[in-house]
Amino acid sequence: QICPVGAITSRLSMYEYRPWMLKRADTVCTYCGDGCRITIQTKDNQLIEVMSAQGAGRNNGDLCAKGFFGYHVSTHQDRLRHPLIRRDGVLVQATWEEALELVAETCVRLKLAQGPNVFAGLIGARCTNEDLYLFQKFMRLAIGTNHIDSSARYGQINGVRALRRVQGTHRWTVTFEDIVSADALLLVGTNITETNPITGLKVKEAVKKHGAALITVEALQPAVGTISNIANLSAHHFGVHPDRFQTVVLGLIKAVVEEGLVAQPLAQRAPAFVKATGDAVKALAWPAIETQTGTTSASLKDAARAFAKTAKAVILVGQGVLRQPGGSGLMTTLLDLLLLTGHHGLAGCGVAPLAEGNNDQGAVEMGAVTEYLPGPADLGDSAARQHIAKLWKEEVPQTPGRTLLEMLDEARTGTIKAMFIVGENPAGSLPPSAKANDALGKLDLLVCQELFLTETAALAHVVLPACSYAEKDGTFTNTEGHVQPVRHAIEPLGESRPDWEILSALSVLLGAPLEYGDAKEITNEIRSLLPGYGLLGAGPKPARPDNAVVSRYLQQGYAEDLKERYALSGSRFEVRGSGKEQTLTLLMQQSLFHSGKYSTRAKGLLQIQSTGSLAVNPADAGRLGIVDGNPVRLSTQQGQMTTTVKLLDRIPEGLAVFPEHFDQDLRRLLSVTADPHTGVPYCKTARVKIERV
Ligand code: SF4
Repeated sequence: QICPVGAITSRLSMYEYRPWMLKRADTVCTYCGDGCRITIQTKDNQLIEVMSAQGAGRNNGDLCAKGFFGYHVSTHQDRLRHPLIRRDGVLVQATWEEALELVAETCVRLKLAQGPNVFAGLIGARCTNEDLYLFQKFMRLAIGTNHIDSSARYGQINGVRALRRVQGTHRWTVTFEDIVSADALLLVGTNITETNPITGLKVKEAVKKHGAALITVEALQPAVGTISNIANLSAHHFGVHPDRFQTVVLGLIKAVVEEGLVAQPLAQRAPAFVKATGDAVKALAWPAIETQTGTTSASLKDAARAFAKTAKAVILVGQGVLRQPGGSGLMTTLLDLLLLTGHHGLAGCGVAPLAEGNNDQGAVEMGAVTEYLPGPADLGDSAARQHIAKLWKEEVPQTPGRTLLEMLDEARTGTIKAMFIVGENPAGSLPPSAKANDALGKLDLLVCQELFLTETAALAHVVLPACSYAEKDGTFTNTEGHVQPVRHAIEPLGESRPDWEILSALSVLLGAPLEYGDAKEITNEIRSLLPGYGLLGAGPKPARPDNAVVSRYLQQGYAEDLKERYALSGSRFEVRGSGKEQTLTLLMQQSLFHSGKYSTRAKGLLQIQSTGSLAVNPADAGRLGIVDGNPVRLSTQQGQMTTTVKLLDRIPEGLAVFPEHFDQDLRRLLSVTADPHTGVPYCKTARVKIERV
């Protein structure tokens, strides 16, 4: 990017252009929650190259491989270019008028006969805030239901619910700058370089330039020769399987209590909270903690001292927590740790859940989840409902809605009869054991707004071609809560339209017009509802904890589930068997080169990584009698699949890691459970038997 004579150039666009031929659009990367500012360079409505100006955006001009080389997905040959209607069981090309009228007629008929709550809607958090906002408004006003969910349900909601519970915020109380200037950083289940690469760079900067103490609780081990392992920099590394993250965190709290590191102001402010958490961790035996974590109490005490005795401490919480059973509870316990050490509420300190999807945070703030209205405000918050109703000039439906898995259950039983799915693919993302295909197949009406004919779109009655981020205007909200402009770089492909425009057109046909001239008008409406939204300047203004909420939590809120959160759970994945009969814990993780399934259509990224293999520790491989490159069969009670094995030192014994982007066959092996409190579907780990084929 900075080669002054252009001698070093991208192989993906070599010889395709001269710099003066290109048009440029500044926008935001669509892959992860870091929200990097990018400049898309185009020629003749083709994407030629992506760059980021030095010093630009929250990424300061840095991009990861996904941002640099993943752009071809927008102009992929398989993009849907025309509406499709199912006729005699087959999806055939139709005009927009035919497709929209069919949807509208069926909706009106269903709604008249059975009411609004036979409808449900699901939206992907790669959509802009404007799409997300209009989607929930469409579902709530034009349809009349709160059966709304988004891909933030896969994990982000666990982080937001815990923040709101303990401190009354839905956003980080820190920024990337606070990470860089932190004295101590605790990372739990982040796999940060792969999942949030630019946030990972901020952590590296804090450690390498400012000598921050880094404490890592991660599934992967430090290893020589890897380019992407944050644990290599760690001063206190605890390498444990994901189901043991909680034990390490409880060990750290126990060490804080027993080493006299509890902040005195907190002890005076909230004696009952300090006593209850202290008693809970004192009841946990060090030998049990040591056995579960494979570490010593001395190591945990060292780390606790390093964390507690610093002025500025930040905790980053990743998908290894948010997408694992008990995710919301562990987030809450990490907030307890920050409270106990006296860092909570101090400037530059905080617990920060990392958003995996580029607009997971926006999805929650736009109210594209069933429990929240835009804000987010609780669905049952009467003041918020009145405020919104005044602006919308219509009442907001009150009946509580359904989360993703509940919607699928109700579709299967016939209670839900129609679904709008926008940029989301439950049939391709959830394991077959979730029976999404079965549920979607029972619907009277399935409408998909999509870029590609995904597994879900292939089941639809009507498929409406949507624009990618490169063809849209609007805003994205990054993991820090920074709202940034998205600008179109090319004109819509074929007859595709922005998602908000499709919803707007449908609303008119349904007799409940939600009409806007452009995305900017929706942004302005969002701002009139949420003053200041997206007007935050070059960087985010971090949220401040609400003292009244913190006090309520310290007085009684913590007690609700203290027993559950402060117990050493029996491992879901205890080591069983020995030698060739041994089973391993399978963990689905992000790769450095992909994001969800979306990037697996980007030819630049496929040149770097086009397939997945199972990474295991050489010691486990030795016991199983397998060597690097061997084909192996994986089996669980759910099913079987074959893949090849890669031996890696950084994978701890007992664990087998597979990149989730290539899990089409592997999903057969997984089961899905719903979080009883937040409805998050958990399906990232399983116990698997591995045999050489
Ligand atoms: Fe930045 Fe994330 Fe895009 Fe990489 S994937 S360029 S870190 S926003």
